[in-house]
Amino acid sequence: MIRTRTLSYCYPKASPLVFADVDLPQGAALLLHGNSGSGKSTWLALAAGLLWARVGEISVADQDLTALKGAARDAWRARNLGFLPQKLHLSAALTVEDNLGLAYFAAGLARDEVAIAHALDALGVTDLAQRRPSQLSGGQAQRVALARAVLLKPRVILADEPTASLDDEAAQLALQLLQSSARSCDATLVIATHDARVQAAMPQALTLRLLPQAVAA
Ligand code: ADP
Ligand code: MG
Repeated sequence: MIRTRTLSYCYPKASPLVFADVDLPQGAALLLHGNSGSGKSTWLALAAGLLWARVGEISVADQDLTALKGAARDAWRARNLGFLPQKLHLSAALTVEDNLGLAYFAAGLARDEVAIAHALDALGVTDLAQRRPSQLSGGQAQRVALARAVLLKPRVILADEPTASLDDEAAQLALQLLQSSARSCDATLVIATHDARVQAAMPQALTLRLLPQAVAA
């Protein structure tokens, strides 16, 4: 579940980004729509506890994020959240398998080889386990990042423009994988996008439309 009230965020020397209230039940899906610069990535960063909201309220998976500080936020994020950022942040020095292993390291948990094998299999990338990120196509890298994002069965999955660089077929597949991954752990799913194909593929999703922001003086 995600609940926000009068949420806003202000970068230095900019006008505040103001967000409409959200009430998203556990297991539901939300599309964050808006043009480039409207605040989609900022909203996701607030929901991930990567940015701290000084104004308004935000609760994610029953946790009031404004009440969590520092290391506690990092621990909460590692245990409860699957984040698929626009830039995938796979570690170039590590194999696919070890990139998945990082999820356990970040959460302070013992590495579970069986769960890693299962996640790779669910996303059809078992054959790529020993490759490094530079040896993957864009679509393969995204599947690996998704496998890592859902490895610890997060309560919430956040995806930033997951279809932006994909052709129609790959975009449909990525959306199916995101939705089936979310269903398999009963996670709430939020997708930030300005891609009309996403809404067409997910008519059941709630929509939060972000308005273009006034340019700061
Ligand atoms: P979107 O993801 O919808 O393209 P963003 O959330 O990335 O929008 O950005 C919203 C606004 O905040 C934009 O005007 C952008 O330039 C600004 N912005 C984003 N990140 C920063 C930052 N680190 N410092 C200052 N301004 C930023
Ligand atoms: Mg963005």
